Amino acid sequence: MNIAEWLAASARLYPRSPALMTGAVIDCDYAEFARRASSIAGWLTHQHGIVPGDRVALFMSNSTSYLECAYGIWWAGAVAVPINAKLHGREAAWICENSGVKFGFVAGDTNASLREALGDGKPVARVFDIKSDGTNAARAAAGLPQPVSRQTDDLAWLFYTSGTTGRPKGVMLSHGNLVAASLCYLSDVDQVHAHDHALYAAPLSHGAGLYNFIHVRAGARHVVPESGAFDPDEVLTLGKSLGDVSMFAAPTMVKRLVEAAKARGENGDGIRTIVYGGGPMYLADIREALDVMGPRFVQIYGQGESPMTITALSRYWHQQTDHPRYLERLASVGAAHSAIEVRITSANGEVLPPGETGEIEARGTPVMLGYWNNREATASTIKDGWLRTGDVGRLDEDGFLTLSDRSKDVIISGGTNIYPREVEEALLTHNAVREVSVVGVADPEWGENVVACVVLADGASADDRTLDAHCLSSIARFKRPKRYVYLPSLPKNNYGKVLKTELRQMLGAK
Ligand code: AMP
Repeated sequence: MNIAEWLAASARLYPRSPALMTGAVIDCDYAEFARRASSIAGWLTHQHGIVPGDRVALFMSNSTSYLECAYGIWWAGAVAVPINAKLHGREAAWICENSGVKFGFVAGDTNASLREALGDGKPVARVFDIKSDGTNAARAAAGLPQPVSRQTDDLAWLFYTSGTTGRPKGVMLSHGNLVAASLCYLSDVDQVHAHDHALYAAPLSHGAGLYNFIHVRAGARHVVPESGAFDPDEVLTLGKSLGDVSMFAAPTMVKRLVEAAKARGENGDGIRTIVYGGGPMYLADIREALDVMGPRFVQIYGQGESPMTITALSRYWHQQTDHPRYLERLASVGAAHSAIEVRITSANGEVLPPGETGEIEARGTPVMLGYWNNREATASTIKDGWLRTGDVGRLDEDGFLTLSDRSKDVIISGGTNIYPREVEEALLTHNAVREVSVVGVADPEWGENVVACVVLADGASADDRTLDAHCLSSIARFKRPKRYVYLPSLPKNNYGKVLKTELRQMLGAK
C-alpha cells in the first residue's frame, strides 16, 4: 500500500476539515491538501520525468509546503529523502549524491548552500526552490487522480542517520514500515482524533516528521509554528489558543518548555501530549516536568532504523506514582511497542535473562529494509531478522527496558564498565548543574578515565570538591569523575543530541 492512500482517504472522509496550518491560521482543508499533492505528483511525473522508486530530496525547514511536497513525492510513487535544513550544503550534497536523487525541493538558504556545494559541472539533481519559484506551477499542474500503486516493501522514505560518528547511512523505510510504525503510535503512544493538532516544533526531516502519517490518517490538523522552529513561548501560546495539541520534543526541548512554563506561571494548558525521546531523559528532569506540567508526557525509544518505535513509556506509567517501582519505571524507556519484540544479547550473541545488561536488539514490522547501497553495514546491523541497535540496556521481569548508553559511549576504566548515564543522573540531582555529559578519556594506567563536562545553572556555582561529594552520596566511588570540565554549553548536533565524540576529541586534545 502507498502511504499516500491515507491522504486520499482523508480527503474523501474529511474534505472540509482543516488540514494544514501555520500557527493559528488555516492554510487549507483535506480536499485541497490532497489536490495539491496529486498536482505536485503529476508535475514531478510529467514535467520532470520522475518515475516510481526515484529519489526526491526535501532540503528545507518546516513549513506546510514541506508536507505538500512530501505527499506529492509519495503520490507519484517516488521516495522522499528528507535532509535536515541545518546541515551544511556539502553534507546535503553528499546525501543527494549517495542516494542518487533526481530532483530536490529546497527553500531559500538551503538552495544557495546546496547549489554552491554541488558546484558546476557535477551531475546535479534538478533543484527547485519553493521560496523563489513558488509552488504555484506545481500546484496548478494536472494531477495524478490516485496515488501510484506501491507494495508494502517498496521504498518510501530514505532517512539518513544523524551521523554522530562517521558518514551518515541511508536507512531504507518502506511503505509497510511507515504504516506499522504509525499504527504503533495509536496502540502504544496516544489516540488521534480529527480535532487534534499535530504541532511540528522539531524538524519534519527527523522523527517528528514520522508522526504526520497517523495524523493524516485521522484527518487531524498539521500545525507548523510561525517561527518554523522551536520557541517554547510560541508553543505554550499555541497550546492555549488551539487546544488538543500533541507534539514531539527531544529531552532538551522538554527542559526548555518546562522552564518557560514555570517562568509564565503556566502548566501547558491545551497541550495534551508531549512525546519525548531521541536521547536520554534524566529522572530529575522528567519529575520536574511532571510537577510543572502534569500528566502530558509519553516517552518513546526508537532509532532511524526502527523509526520512533522500539519501546514506549505511556502516560499511564508516568502516573502510577503508588507503584513500588515507580521511579525505576520512570527512569526506563518503557515496554516494547505492539509490533516489536525486544531482547538483550551478550557480546557473543547469547540471549540474556531479565536483569542482565547487554546490547538491545529489536525485531518487527517497523524495522528498516536495510541501509541504502551498503550491504556490509546492513549485514552487520540486521542479524537473523534482529536489528542490533548499538544501545546497551537491560529488561526487567515485567518487560520494562532501561537504557544504559550507546555501546560506544560505555567507559571501561580499570577493566570495569561504567555507564555514563548513571553518573550523569547523579550529577543532575545537584541544583547547580544545568546539563552534564560524561565521557571516557584515554588514560595509560586505567584504560579510560571518567570525565564530567558540566554546564552550571545560571548564577550558580559549584567546584570539583562539592560535585565529588555529591556523587559519593549516590554512586560507587569508582564511578565518580576523575576530572570536571566546566563549559558554557555542550556541543549538540542538529537534532539536539550531545556530541560525545566532539567532547572526547576536545578533552583528548587538551
Ligand atoms: P536516531 O537514529 O538519530 O533517532 O538516534 C537513535 C538513538 O537515540 C538511539 O539508538 C538511542 O541511542 C537514542 N535514543 C532514542 N530514544 C531514546 C530515549 N527515549 N532515551 C535515551 N536514548 C534514546
